[in-house]
Amino acid sequence: MEDKIVRFADKSSHQIFLEPEGRHTNEYYLNGFSTSLPEDVQVEGVRSIPGLEHACITRVGYAIEYDYFPPMQLLQTMETKPLENLYFAGQINGTSGYEEAAVQGLMAGINAVLKIRGEEPFVPGRSEAYIGVLIDDLVTKSLVEPYRMFTSLAEFRLILRQDNADLRLMEYGYKFGLIPANVYSDMQKRKEAIKQSIVELKKWRSSLEDINPVLERKGTAPLQQKESLEQLLKRPEITLVDFSAFSSHELFSEKANLFWRKVREQVEIEVKYEGFLERQRQQVEKLKELEGLKIPEQFDFNRLSSVSTEGREKLSRIKPGTLGQASRILGVSQSDIAILMVYLSRRKNIIH
Ligand SMILES: Cc1cc2nc3c(=O)[nH]c(=O)nc-3n(C[C@H](O)[C@H](O)[C@H](O)COP(=O)(O)OP(=O)(O)OC[C@H]3O[C@@H](n4cnc5c(N)ncnc54)[C@H](O)[C@@H]3O)c2cc1C
Repeated sequence: MEDKIVRFADKSSHQIFLEPEGRHTNEYYLNGFSTSLPEDVQVEGVRSIPGLEHACITRVGYAIEYDYFPPMQLLQTMETKPLENLYFAGQINGTSGYEEAAVQGLMAGINAVLKIRGEEPFVPGRSEAYIGVLIDDLVTKSLVEPYRMFTSLAEFRLILRQDNADLRLMEYGYKFGLIPANVYSDMQKRKEAIKQSIVELKKWRSSLEDINPVLERKGTAPLQQKESLEQLLKRPEITLVDFSAFSSHELFSEKANLFWRKVREQVEIEVKYEGFLERQRQQVEKLKELEGLKIPEQFDFNRLSSVSTEGREKLSRIKPGTLGQASRILGVSQSDIAILMVYLSRRKNIIH
């Protein structure tokens, strides 16, 4: 809270959520009011909130402090640069969180073994895994506060989804001996089935007699001429199960086994969000190319209204010359960079 008041001094109010601690208690957690101010100040602060004038504070807020080693001293493998063969993972690197600590341990372990075996290191990219985002942020940006993995720090979060984690990363897990062969081959078959299903849906044009009753039942406009099932699936009202009205294909069956239910989920996501996903995949490729993209000297960063307030402020002050430089400024998130990149590429005429 004390931090918010300084950083967002221009705001006249802050949102606070009152979260009940449980069914059998009248205690509430004040989400958004974490603080380590002195007790009397906390009591006064809480009671200044409309509605909480008579609140009774059962436990005051407190802060935890700990020492850390600046993670810029690490290689991306988590090995320390000053001392070869020494690997650091977790809170010692200035992070906070269970998962943050766990994934660093995993990466340090994998890379230590790879080094002993004389094999190539394993460093997932920012567009492949949240682990990649975390490591890249840690080793390239200096810390001002404990690092937490927020999804907003990942510029490619449409690709980094929980539902496709196995499709993205199981290949690696299998390579490192962490995944049994049958689980791996099931995933591969699923991946192939997803790809194949989309190809088939693109070619599949049902007769109007078959498809129109389905569309009418779902309250969406009937067809005058045939369209592919893939096109129809893009309509928000339509799901693959609707096509079971005229086909017994497993992809459409409500009673399908787990394999086909998982395939169906991915096919629906891929088809319905194709535009967004494709744009993001192209951004991944572009970002690699555009590292050296020049930013005009007189560029007014304040016009980038979707960039975070902190990002705009830092960019305006430091005035980076290239997109690569902008991306290394502390306080400028990767999603800010993605927005800046889209803006600069759209306005090619102002790029030297
Ligand atoms: C009160 C509190 C609540 C938290 N709540 C959450 C939460 O809800 N969600 C969340 O994600 N994170 C939470 N965290 C943060 C999270 O617990 C830590 O960031 C994470 O556990 C750090 O893991 P680590 O393995 O890096 O370090 P640690 O878990 O601290 O492990 C370090 C280990 O090293 C041992 N050690 C230290 N010195 C030596 C030595 N010289 N020789 C041998 N061993 C040594 C210690 O005994 C310890 O077991 C919380 C932290 C605190 C303090």
